[in-house]
Amino acid sequence: MPLPPVTPTPSKALSAPQKALRKLGLDRDIDLALHLPLRYEDETRIVKLRDAREGDTVQVEATVTSCDITFKPRRQLLVTVDDASDTCVLRFFSFYPAHQKALAVGNRLRLRGEVRGGFGGLTMMHPTFKAAGGELPGALTPVYPTVAGLPQTYLRRAVITGLNHADLTETLPPALPLGLPWPDPRGAWDLRASLQFLHHPTPDVSMAALEDRSHPAWIRLKLEELLAQQLSQLTAKRERDRLRAPRLVPRPEGLHAQLLAALPFTLTAAQQRVGEEIAADLARAAPMHRLLQGDVGAGKTVVAALAAMVGIDAGWQCALMAPTEILASQHFSKLVGWLEPLGIKVAWLTGSQKKKERTTMLALVASGEAALVVGTHAIIQEHVQFKNLGLAVIDEQHRFGVAQRLALRGKMQEDGMEPHMLMMTATPIPRTLAMSYYADLDVSVLDELPPGRTPVVTKVVSDSRRDEVVERIGAQLSQGRQVYWVCPLIEESEALDLTNATQTHADLSDALPGVMVGLLHSRMPVAEKKAVMDLFTSGVMGVLVSTTVIEVGVDVPNASLMVIEHAERFGLSQLHQLRGRVGRGAAASACVLLYGTPDGGRLSETARERLRAMVETNDGFEIARRDLEIRGPGEFLGARQSGAPLLRFADLSTDTHLLEWAKAWAPNMLDRHPHLAIRHIARWLGGKSEYLKA
Ligand code: ADP
Ligand code: MG
Repeated sequence: MPLPPVTPTPSKALSAPQKALRKLGLDRDIDLALHLPLRYEDETRIVKLRDAREGDTVQVEATVTSCDITFKPRRQLLVTVDDASDTCVLRFFSFYPAHQKALAVGNRLRLRGEVRGGFGGLTMMHPTFKAAGGELPGALTPVYPTVAGLPQTYLRRAVITGLNHADLTETLPPALPLGLPWPDPRGAWDLRASLQFLHHPTPDVSMAALEDRSHPAWIRLKLEELLAQQLSQLTAKRERDRLRAPRLVPRPEGLHAQLLAALPFTLTAAQQRVGEEIAADLARAAPMHRLLQGDVGAGKTVVAALAAMVGIDAGWQCALMAPTEILASQHFSKLVGWLEPLGIKVAWLTGSQKKKERTTMLALVASGEAALVVGTHAIIQEHVQFKNLGLAVIDEQHRFGVAQRLALRGKMQEDGMEPHMLMMTATPIPRTLAMSYYADLDVSVLDELPPGRTPVVTKVVSDSRRDEVVERIGAQLSQGRQVYWVCPLIEESEALDLTNATQTHADLSDALPGVMVGLLHSRMPVAEKKAVMDLFTSGVMGVLVSTTVIEVGVDVPNASLMVIEHAERFGLSQLHQLRGRVGRGAAASACVLLYGTPDGGRLSETARERLRAMVETNDGFEIARRDLEIRGPGEFLGARQSGAPLLRFADLSTDTHLLEWAKAWAPNMLDRHPHLAIRHIARWLGGKSEYLKA
């Protein structure tokens, strides 16, 4: 006898809609309950055809008076219905015999569709229909965001089940004063009532209040969401505060004082203030977790170096990790110049290093002989062993992912201890983002540039005036200045029609005889890149044509002109970073944004907005604010947010009040009602809050 075929047990196999639910992240009852409609349909009323206006989506009940297949202009089912007030023609281009049966003359139907006018009177294309009669729902019908394979009807039922099963008990403590310009959303608008309402609103609701999310039910949800975010970050911060880190306190005549005395400049007031904020953190026995924001050229490196001096003086190692080899090598030479005279050994770690050099460096790091380690991602590789890492500095932190920051932190050898972390960025984070997504960090701001800088003048110039720009380069060179020319791509791409760096390099070499024009792009071998950079840094090379490899941190004060080709293709913060390469010395500097319009077309509106912003302001914070406006937080946050939930309901540009409220009340709730706080976080973030801890 043949064996019965083996079939997977039905209880384990997921149906297509179940899989689709997973895909949408709707795993838990609460996730379903929080999956809110995109819009609503009003099936609560029957409208008379006479009262239906063109363009309205309406529900009517009418009797079929004719039902015919015609072939003009193409095969279709034409049905006429009459509801005693008027008649309407229904058109179906795809239909089955079952349709014809349901739409037979004499049948009374409940129809729903968009009404259009026309010569022959009202029409509806492909209305939905069922037999007339039956109860009318008391609430609007939700239409949910969904994916293929997950029909609305299935999703609606799943959401109702989710709503019924989810634990929606109150987590906001009754004593929490709200102090908001809205009625208290507790009581009438508790979470359950708010969700019930938003899924199934009564037909008398103001659609505007639902759409602009000003309805009390929406306010309640946004409050809860923002509070969860604040609570989770505050928890992460407090957990970190319980960990130990070495106490680092500067000695009166120690390395910190020595470096300060040896610097060829005095610190700006902002550098001093930030230095003190960092010093206060380092002196505590809990790990520092500080973000240092400072516009390009604000002088972050020396602040980091001074912090490192305190650590090294106390006998701990420090690490400085940068996202690109060029940047890391610039840091390395600068720091060697500052620190070796003080008797400090600096090690260098990078992926492109020769094996022999690398082995030597690894030994220096492991023995502790190298007090400072500078490098790229190579620093966090597994085989890199520190003797005692006390302070880790990450430059251009937004270029690194969560895992990389965690890996660097993990280089501390002692159990139960963490190194102090200083994260630096030239992309200032707008205030609302800093208050929300970065609430677990302490933030220091370098809001002052070193003296003697002249602001960069920015001009937007059409690519058709390229020749004038080349002339301008000649003028700068004749004054002994240097020039950057940045291109977006290194290879000809027909589709985008971008001039490539190689071609520009050749053109400029021809146009500027007797001038050394260099080329730098990301696909060059590292040694070659370094050779080119050295020639430019030392002033031998007049013009450097490059792709965006120079975007971050490169520091050549003698460069006074930055030309960005196809500037319309760059993001706003990228443009600002590039512009920051000039204006670093006392000479008046300029930035030329060359734009091309393919086939003489027009620039897109967002491209124009970006270029306009560049001309209008040099202020990194203003740039960041506009960038956020143009791009929205998702992209802006980049690596920090990988995997962590973005705010779904609250909108940081309009809900600042609510954000401030949540920020003020999170500590209070965590102190006085820790159990409610934990439940609240779990409800809103599930397992996702871990991501916030890096
Ligand atoms: P960024 O904040 O962009 O990393 P850097 O640390 O590279 O800026 O500093 C830019 C330049 O300014 C460097 O050449 C640095 O040595 C110089 N610099 C830093 N602080 C001062 C200061 N207080 N006075 C004068 N020059 C300074
Ligand atoms: Mg820098």
